[in-house]
Amino acid sequence: MSPEYEVVIGLETHVELLTESKIFCSCPNRFGEAPNTNVCPVCLGLPGSLPVFNKNALELALRAALALNCTISSYSKFDRKNYFYPDLPKAYQISQYDMPLARDGYLDLVKNGCLVRKVRIERLHLEEDAGKLLHSYEEARSYVDYNRCGVPLVEIVTAPDLRSPEEARLFLELLKKILLYTGVSDCKMEEGSLRCDANISLRLAGSDTLGRKVEIKNMNSFKAVQRGLEYEVSRQEEILRAGGQVVMETTRWNEERGITIEMRGKEEEHDYRYFPEPDLPPMVLNGEFIGEIRSKLPELPVQRCFRFTEEYGLTPYQAEIITSSKNLADFFEETLEHYPQPQKVSNWLIGDVLGLLNSMGKEINQVTFTPLHFSGLLKLLDTGTLSGRLAKDVLEESFLTGKHPEEVVQEKGLAQISDEQKLLPVIDDVIKGNPNAVSDYSGGNKKAIAFLVGQVMQRTRGQANPQLVTGLLKKQLEG
Ligand SMILES: [Zn+2]
Repeated sequence: MSPEYEVVIGLETHVELLTESKIFCSCPNRFGEAPNTNVCPVCLGLPGSLPVFNKNALELALRAALALNCTISSYSKFDRKNYFYPDLPKAYQISQYDMPLARDGYLDLVKNGCLVRKVRIERLHLEEDAGKLLHSYEEARSYVDYNRCGVPLVEIVTAPDLRSPEEARLFLELLKKILLYTGVSDCKMEEGSLRCDANISLRLAGSDTLGRKVEIKNMNSFKAVQRGLEYEVSRQEEILRAGGQVVMETTRWNEERGITIEMRGKEEEHDYRYFPEPDLPPMVLNGEFIGEIRSKLPELPVQRCFRFTEEYGLTPYQAEIITSSKNLADFFEETLEHYPQPQKVSNWLIGDVLGLLNSMGKEINQVTFTPLHFSGLLKLLDTGTLSGRLAKDVLEESFLTGKHPEEVVQEKGLAQISDEQKLLPVIDDVIKGNPNAVSDYSGGNKKAIAFLVGQVMQRTRGQANPQLVTGLLKKQLEG
């Protein structure tokens, strides 16, 4: 984009909370069950049923709000947001309108250890989710599943502080990390537990007034958010450049076609006729209760990342990867308790351990490989029992079987051979069997020794200590 224009983006994120039950009834809050099985008169909106507020939803919402540096309202209330849609059996959603649970927070966007931008959080409020419509084009009919009705949500609204599609993606990645660290949500975008809408406008660089904004919905991955916004940036720039005006509208991102499609114009905006929810009392929170929630918050990813660079001397790159998940960061620190060498642990963790996890499609807490296994493996390297090459094999075996590395070494007889008496006969054989390489070496081609070392390694199934073999070979050839 030309520097003449500045991009202005604000995000509205809906996050499903990781509670056992729904927000106003005791139905289970579970994804993927048979349609319309987790329902009751309350979440179906049957006449005469009354909501009861789930305290756990409040706790999780407060955790999110505190982790995002928000001010918690000592007094807030629920409101009815009225609209008619088949996935909403009550014909209203219980939400929070003018008195949200929390306001005025911020999130520091950090990349490679540097602060990119401070993004203000305007508000965070609680509400209930709606059901889900399933459209069958073959059958030319639609189905409705009310299981999601009444699943607790927080909506997190940022100020229009983001300045590029990439920043928007960064924001969401960091938000997700925070919500996972604090156990607020499982943040599975593919299951809809993290959903994001964006408002985007362009203005002349240096201007204070906001341009006309377009809302984009239906972006189902972080990549889609960035792509959808990038598309909208170039579309709007083209309009402005041609002297036109952007029309305020709500659009839907079409991932296959890579374009935004108009859903409704501004004049079709709903009037939700908000009014206070008469069936729920206002929420009055005291400082003691809020303090209790705050004291239970874990160390957050950005802070932990900084601490890892300072305390363990990791590079921002290493620290960012290791703190990308709480489980991985915990695994790293637990390994250090048994093996206090941060650089070595970090190198093996980021290289080989993450490589194996990725190939298995698993997280570190989903395998039987523990910090004790890991520190044991690194100790075997230090004592010379294993070469780097063998350690990789043992790591893989330990990963697949859950056996301790020492056990793997014993069972498979994989220990490195550092005994000269065992190596010398092999070396003699190799020298006898490769006269060409030997004469190359004596003729001054010192690189020929690498070939001979390779032959010894092959005959010992990779178990010979390569440094020792090189030394012994030189001695034999030059002696
Ligand atoms: Zn229910």
